[in-house]
Amino acid sequence: MANAPDRTRDIAYVALGSNLGDRDAHLAAARQALAAIPRSRVIAESMVEETAPLGAVPQGPYLNQMIAMETELSPRELLTELQRIERAAGRTRDVRWGPRTLDLDIVRYEHQIATDADLQVPHPAAEERDFWRRELAELRSRLAPS
Ligand code: ATP
Ligand code: CA
Ligand code: CA
Repeated sequence: MANAPDRTRDIAYVALGSNLGDRDAHLAAARQALAAIPRSRVIAESMVEETAPLGAVPQGPYLNQMIAMETELSPRELLTELQRIERAAGRTRDVRWGPRTLDLDIVRYEHQIATDADLQVPHPAAEERDFWRRELAELRSRLAPS
């Protein structure tokens, strides 16, 4: 019997954020967990930067980072993996825009989109958040063939 054909590889850009507890440790654990996601590999990491919290909920500043992953996972499959990693980081509170140990968002894929109520890719704020645009540009310049 023939093997299943290769799934198309795409590049996913994943935003990491933490503003509760040991933020550096949460990001480090997240990077390790992202590197272990099946059928995927991390191909670039942006600098870590500190950003002011968005929205009206009073909370501390975030540490942010963006990771580029080459992956065979669909956006839906990747979201499932990201939510598992968030839970493992002890993310219990699920108030939108509230403080959290770890937040993992799919900022965009290079080639795929999703338009479901609970999964939009590109993320609706992909073009709006200056730090995401900066980090995305940083990753793409690192990945560009020289
Ligand atoms: P924001 O998405 O504006 O950064 P947030 O990260 O605080 O806000 P969450 O509470 O973490 O929001 O997530 C709310 C829901 O967003 C999740 O349950 C998930 O289903 C949905 N969602 C939709 N599109 C995406 C995406 N591209 N990446 C991650 N989650 C998404
Ligand atoms: Ca977010
Ligand atoms: Ca999120």
